[in-house]
This record gives sequence, C-alpha cells and structure tokens, in this order.
Amino acid sequence: MIRLTQVSKVYDNNVTALSDINCFIDKGEFIFLVGPSGAGKSTLIKLLMCEERATSGKLMINQFDAVNIPHKQVPMLRRSLGVVFQDFRLLPKKTVFDNVAFALKIVEASRRQILRRVPECLDMVGLSHKGKAYPHELSGGERQRVSIARAICNNPAVLIADEPTGNLDPDTANDIMACFEKINSRGTTIIMATHAKEIVNQMAKRVIALEQGKLVRDQQRGEYGYGN
Ligand code: ADP
Repeated sequence: MIRLTQVSKVYDNNVTALSDINCFIDKGEFIFLVGPSGAGKSTLIKLLMCEERATSGKLMINQFDAVNIPHKQVPMLRRSLGVVFQDFRLLPKKTVFDNVAFALKIVEASRRQILRRVPECLDMVGLSHKGKAYPHELSGGERQRVSIARAICNNPAVLIADEPTGNLDPDTANDIMACFEKINSRGTTIIMATHAKEIVNQMAKRVIALEQGKLVRDQQRGEYGYGN
C-alpha cells in the first residue's frame, strides 16, 4: 500500500535528507521509524503527507503517486492519512468533542455522521466522558488521546505519528501505545517516528532505521538499536 522506490530528497540548500530509499509497507503493518536527529525521519513523514515532494524516485500511497500528484488532489490523498504530533495541536477554544468534530466538518460530514462518529472515536481512546472538557482541563496523555481520536475519525488507512510520546511520562506513553495497538488491530497501518527506546524494544514491531538519509536497517520484530 506504500511503496518507496529509489526515493531521494534534496532540499533547496543542497542538503540531502533522504537518499535512495526503497521499502514496501503493507496494509495493517505497525512500523517504528528510528534514527538519530537529522537522519531524515521527519522528511520521510513530510513526503508521505505531500508537504514536501521527493526530488527523485517513486512514492506510491495506495493509488496515489505522491511525487507527481496535482496540488488539487493532495487533500484527497491526505484524507487517507491520519496524523498525530508530539505537541497535540488541539484547538484550545474548542471542546474535546468539537476538536474531533472539526476534522469531520472539514470533509463535509453531515451532522448525523458527526454525532455518531465522534463518540465512537472518543470511546476508542477511552475518553467518552470528556467530550465537554476543554484541552487545558486535560492531562498531557488525555490531550494526546484526543488528537488520536481526531486523527482516526475519517477512518484513515494509515496513521502517522511523529514522536507522539515525546512529551509524556513513561506510564502515559504506554497508554498511548495501547491506543495505537488497538487501532492497528482493527486494520489501520501505523507509522511512528520515535526516540522512545523502551517502547520500540518492548513492542517488537517492524523497525525501519534511517541514518544520514539512508535506510540502514529494516527488521521485523526489531529493536531500537541506539544507545539512548
Ligand atoms: P529527523 O526528523 O530524523 O531529525 P529531518 O528529516 O528533520 O531529520 O532532517 C534531515 C536533514 O534535512 C537534516 O540535515 C536537516 O537539517 C535537513 N532539513 C530538514 N528540513 C529541511 C528544510 N526544510 N530545508 C533544508 N534542510 C532541511
């Protein structure tokens, strides 16, 4: 469902962020993307989201050609992706319910769909009782779970998470990982960039490691493989 063939990305300042990346990610996989700072993880995520275009090579996401896709089709590609960030990115003046509903309104879901889907997603992340709360009334872990509910409400084929546990303590991080496992067990592909060594080692999923823009390791039931 995601195939990278000889993908390279050179930024305008001539920095090569990714160099000749080849890999295939199948539907329903759970992938940890690891590597030191500057290795190219965020760039890879940006290519998947079409925030940046590859300089050369081929990147297919489902039926979309993410290198040559016309700008006006990018929103369609993004609808098949849910994204979770380290810093949650919730709307502070909207309730938990409305934060999730907002993602559905963007894709012009009906009021009826919103009233059905938002509670389903909040239930999925264990926050059914927090619909009326505002982000500032929640713990960090709860905020991240709202952002996960928002990311999955359009039923994306792929959930991309960029350091989703980076701001959380270890217990809370484990709760977040339990959410991802549950979502993955229902068929959603998960790609998570992380420095969380314990989590990667504990979960024993496929690990793709980047270093200086190169794919240096692609291992089933892999380990983090770096010192810290
Ligand atoms: P990581 O997410 O693994 O820390 P990045 O993808 O952010 O790595 O960065 C990979 C390389 O690309 C680094 O050398 C970084 O400085 C460079 N880079 C990232 N974004 C840009 C940009 N917008 N313009 C120029 N260089 C960039």
